[in-house]
Amino acid sequence: MTEPPEIFARIYTRHGHRCPMSTLGGRLGLAAMTWLGENAGELQAVYSNRTCALDGIAEATGCSEEHGSLVVKSDGRHALMLTSPHASVEVELTSEALAMAGRYRSLCNRLENGWDDLHVDEQTRRRAEMDAMLDELLPQFWHVEDSQLVQKVKSK
Ligand SMILES: [Zn+2]
Repeated sequence: MTEPPEIFARIYTRHGHRCPMSTLGGRLGLAAMTWLGENAGELQAVYSNRTCALDGIAEATGCSEEHGSLVVKSDGRHALMLTSPHASVEVELTSEALAMAGRYRSLCNRLENGWDDLHVDEQTRRRAEMDAMLDELLPQFWHVEDSQLVQKVKSK
């Protein structure tokens, strides 16, 4: 596998595994930070879905649930609102980003079906198949333009 850029390496360490949604959470957080600009000050984040994306957002923005600066509201979207003392921006994953992440999810659902009854060799083979897809997918999520993955919903 290719080594991830430093920010994503930190996200996977925090998160405990490599996956599309933690990576996309990182992209959301980084995009929102870019829009707010450097030295934005104390930040408050609201994310609309309890997914792996939260660890990516936390690592990219410095906001965290433990410190009350990252709040989850569960409205089924994939939108991050990031607010500084001076401005706020809401960014959302594009349907393209969600479709790419969804293809990995479907592969896992198919391969993990009946997992405990599989022979260990078969488990190893299937895990390698899932890893191979991550090796192909994650570098795209690290490197493609923001506009492919993230759209700005609103700002003020
Ligand atoms: Zn995950």
